[in-house]
Amino acid sequence: MTRRTTAIARLEDHPNLEEVLGVLAQLAHITDEDLGRLAGGWHNDPFLGQARSKALTPDSPLICEVLSAFDAVSALFEDDLRGDAPYVAVDPGVAVLALKAVRDAIAASYARPLLSRAEHGALMRPWRAVYPYTTGGQPDLGPQSDQVHALLAALPRLASRCHDASGLQLWESLVDQSYVGESERAEARDSAFSAAVVTSRRRVWALVRRSGAEGLGRSCATCRTPRSYGADRDSERVLTLCLDAVCALLVADALPDGTTALLTAPVQVLVPGQRRPS
Ligand SMILES: [Zn+2]
Repeated sequence: MTRRTTAIARLEDHPNLEEVLGVLAQLAHITDEDLGRLAGGWHNDPFLGQARSKALTPDSPLICEVLSAFDAVSALFEDDLRGDAPYVAVDPGVAVLALKAVRDAIAASYARPLLSRAEHGALMRPWRAVYPYTTGGQPDLGPQSDQVHALLAALPRLASRCHDASGLQLWESLVDQSYVGESERAEARDSAFSAAVVTSRRRVWALVRRSGAEGLGRSCATCRTPRSYGADRDSERVLTLCLDAVCALLVADALPDGTTALLTAPVQVLVPGQRRPS
């Protein structure tokens, strides 16, 4: 059976799935050293320019996912592109070039069915020089990854609160809790972020915040009402409360237990039975 590339409707059906997942899973784990190597390996020429345009045509497989992965890259490396935070160690110009290599790898892996072997190889070259092998399909969310995933998976329930009574109850409980211990939680969040920087997980931090915001920002499963966070104060507070908890779980192994507990206690209602670190 021949499959038209335009007929690929879901990522699971993509013939180059393994490479796509490998590239996506690596994004949050690109190190400062990798950025330098990716930047050094990237260049442009007419052949590459043409291959890139071909990869990014509107008919390219899952092109909307490709563009959303580009957005994710900009979000994960926002600090590196701005370059003003004290923990940023890479020149922003280097980061810009490195991210061109990253975007070429994303585009090439998705567009593999449309590209010739030479075009695919040329677009992937800087990436493959740094990451020669395709490894696992999931980003590493740390020793407590099960808990991180469980909490992320629970967040879309809140988006259905207009038609799900238990979702509404959870929502109201979170709004109430968001007013308790705010300054202590803000301090704890700063400690957690420092732990993420020290343990080289600040880009994973950005990744899980993005995933969490996406889960909370889904439309209601019944009436399709879209949720926009930050539109009102309560939703912004709940968003912060939930994202801080996800991030605390991400770096729990590098935080005092009391700090983790402070940030995760308010969201225990979302994941009943989840154990706090002892
Ligand atoms: Zn609804």
